[in-house]
Amino acid sequence: MGLSTSQSLTNQNVYTFVKENFHLAHIEPATSSDDPTQVEEKWSIVVIRDPFLCRQFCDDVQFTLSVSEIQQQQAERIRAEQKIKCVQCNDYYTEEDNKMGQCVHHDGFVYDNYSPKLTQWAPETAIEQLLSEEAQAVQQASIANVPMTAEQKERTERAKQRFRYICCNQTLQTTGNVGGCKRGKHGPENITRNEWELARDNNQEYQYKRIRLLQSRAQHDD
Ligand SMILES: [Zn+2]
Ligand SMILES: [Zn+2]
Repeated sequence: MGLSTSQSLTNQNVYTFVKENFHLAHIEPATSSDDPTQVEEKWSIVVIRDPFLCRQFCDDVQFTLSVSEIQQQQAERIRAEQKIKCVQCNDYYTEEDNKMGQCVHHDGFVYDNYSPKLTQWAPETAIEQLLSEEAQAVQQASIANVPMTAEQKERTERAKQRFRYICCNQTLQTTGNVGGCKRGKHGPENITRNEWELARDNNQEYQYKRIRLLQSRAQHDD
């Protein structure tokens, strides 16, 4: 029993030993000589093939970093703390805090649930459409100077609910927290919002889902 345990313990001891001896490496005036130019040098040379272990070891012994390593660390820190706008949820994030579950968004387009062809819309365009319809209704009512009838109101309210996300069938909202059915990490960083929208609107899986919805409705109508 414990072969792996004793092996890892041995490695740990070796590591500690090497680390301590590395700390003892120094250059100082030789005690055995009266000549102050005579120095006693104690060298340690460690060869580490694995880059991760090498970095770990350098940290552990506080080995002086090279200029390029310091620059690289600075660049990494700046990158980690930089505010980036997420293409998926439109919110800001830093790479440092970018964890799973932080980015809440819908990854599908919307469709007009009341249109016979289940017309596909980009959510951004659909929101603009709803806002413009709402403004028009208010303007018309004020021009006509008569309050909307209960039926008109109901029709307007129903029209507001007609856009559904293909990913989850949730209703598209023009106000409040947008939310979403997907929870993941913010990003990806290497594409623009426009590119992401294009990919979302051409998502094959969701295209098929819309066609299946259309087909099943056509069958029910027969
Ligand atoms: Zn969704
Ligand atoms: Zn996000």
